Order: sequence, then structure tokens, then C-alpha cells
Amino acid sequence: MKRLHTFSFQDRSQAAILREILAKEGIDCLIRNDQLSSGLGEIPFIECCPELWIIDDEAMPRARMFLKAWLENAPATDDDWSCPACGERCGAQFGACWACGALRD
Ligand SMILES: [Zn+2]
Repeated sequence: MKRLHTFSFQDRSQAAILREILAKEGIDCLIRNDQLSSGLGEIPFIECCPELWIIDDEAMPRARMFLKAWLENAPATDDDWSCPACGERCGAQFGACWACGALRD
């Protein structure tokens, strides 16, 4: 099992949407850290960011393709940001780099 993407806390609904997209393509995945919101204040904030994990490692390349296409179709805004780790341009609605998973500053 591998992590495909980390969403910001605000993007929890998008994690569910992407999971549905992948499920329709036959890619089994699950969301971690989706049930911890009630623990805010006790759990470090970063641990509350939902993560999308691909269960079958062999499905990872396909899952990445869908993730990339999905991210590219997301409406761009002036608030796009550059990943501090790899320099990739990421949409303002994402809390982590889609390419390398680094969290936004
Ligand atoms: Zn990056």
C-alpha cells in the first residue's frame, strides 16, 4: 500500500471525491486521517490531513495518472503556489504538492 496524495484539512471533501473517481476505475484506495477532526487540539494539525492511499502497489502508476489529470482539471486560481520541495506548481486548493507530497508552507 502506498500513499498517493495528502490533502489539506480543508480539502477533506476532495479526498472523498478522488477516492470515488479511482474506485470507479477499479483502483482500491482508502482515506487515512479522515476521522480525526474531533481530535483537533490534541493531535498535531498535520496528522489531521487526510491521506489517500492506494492499496494495490501495482495500481499506483494508473492512480497517479488519474490524480494528475484530476488536479489539472481543477480550476486554476491566482493563488497557485510553487512546491518548496520540488518546485511544481500546485493549485491553491491543495495543501500538499501533488507531485512529491510535500506540505505547503
Ligand atoms: Zn513537490
